[in-house]
Amino acid sequence: MSEPMTIPPDAPLDPPGPRRALFEIYDEGFTCDTWGGVETALWHLVEGVRELGVEAEFYPCAQGADLDALAERVVRERVDAVFPLVESPLFDGGEDAVADEGPDVPELRRRVVRIWHDLSRLSPDLSTPPPCPVHALGATVPSGGHCTAADAFPDGPTREVFLRDLPWTRCFGSRTYIPWAVDHLPPQDLRDPSGPVLLQLGKTSVDQARVCLDRLTGAGVPVRAIFATWSKEGRDARELVAPYAASDAVEVVDSYDIRTEWKRVYAGARLFVLPSVFHETFNFAAAEALQLGLPVATLDDCGALAGFASLRAATVAELMDAVVARGGAARPAQRPWTGWREVAHRYASLIAAPRHAPATGV
Ligand SMILES: [Zn+2]
Repeated sequence: MSEPMTIPPDAPLDPPGPRRALFEIYDEGFTCDTWGGVETALWHLVEGVRELGVEAEFYPCAQGADLDALAERVVRERVDAVFPLVESPLFDGGEDAVADEGPDVPELRRRVVRIWHDLSRLSPDLSTPPPCPVHALGATVPSGGHCTAADAFPDGPTREVFLRDLPWTRCFGSRTYIPWAVDHLPPQDLRDPSGPVLLQLGKTSVDQARVCLDRLTGAGVPVRAIFATWSKEGRDARELVAPYAASDAVEVVDSYDIRTEWKRVYAGARLFVLPSVFHETFNFAAAEALQLGLPVATLDDCGALAGFASLRAATVAELMDAVVARGGAARPAQRPWTGWREVAHRYASLIAAPRHAPATGV
C-alpha cells in the first residue's frame, strides 16, 4: 500500500516545468512479432509529443496492474497525464472496485486519458455497440433508461479520446475526437494491378479465411498473406495458410517490422483485402495501404475500416467475388488526411490542460 498523498490540497495543480506523461504498453513492448495497431499508434504519438517537449515514458501492463503503485508514482513524479490501455484495471469493476482503492488512486484517475483504441469495454466481441437509449442523438433529456456505457465509467473523471464521433461515444461527458495518422509512411503509389492480392487474415473465422483462400487461388489470383496474430483467429489462419503456401499459390509475409519493412508487405500488390467482422476504430493496415497507393476491400459493417474501402460486400464470399472480378481495376480511396504532428499537438494540449476537475464522482 502506498502512502497518502502529501501535496496540500491548495497547491497549484500545474507546476512549472516540462509536462510529464505515462503511456501504458503491452508487456511484449515493441518487438516486431507482436507489433500491431496499438504499438504503431503509441510509438508515433509518443515520438510526436516528445518533440513538443513532453517527457513521455512507457510502462508495461504488468506495472499498470498495481494501481496503488502506479498512483504513488504519478503523485511522486508529478505526472500530468496517464494513458492506460483500455484493458487497464482502472476501468474494471465500477463503484465497488473504486471504493477499495488506495488514497492516491483518485489523483491517478484525475490524470487518466483513455484512448478508445478498441471497444472491448463496450462490446466484448468487438462488434458495433448498440445505440444508447439515454444518450442517443436528440435525447437531450435523460429518459431514465439504462445507459449502455454505464459500466465503463462514462461520468469521469477520466478524459476520453475517441477516434471518430459516433453515437456510442456520446455517453461520455468529457470526450475529445482525435484520429490517428499514417504519415509515418511516405505517400507513394506502389500498386501493381497485376500483382498479388494482399490478404490479411485473423479478423474473421478460420472457416471464412478458408473461403478467401479457396476462392482467390481457385480463380488463379496470386495471394500474399499477412496475419493479425494477436487474435486466436489470426494464429489459426496462419496454420490454415501453410499448405497453400507450400504449393506456391500463396506467399506468406509472416513477421515484419512496419517501420522498416513496409515495402516487403505492400509493394507490388493489386489491392489490400481485410475481411473484418470487428468494429475497427481506425485500422492501420488499411490506412497504410492507402498511403502506399493500394485500394482496400472489406466488409460492410466494420467501423472506420469501411471508410477506407473501394470495394465492399456484405459477406466474405461476395467480397471475394468482387475482388476476383474487379480487384485489379479498383482505385484507392482518399488518403487519411491527419498527420502525426497535428495528432501530437492535440495530445500535448490534453496533457497540458489544467486539471481543474476535483477528484469526485468516482
Ligand atoms: Zn449512454
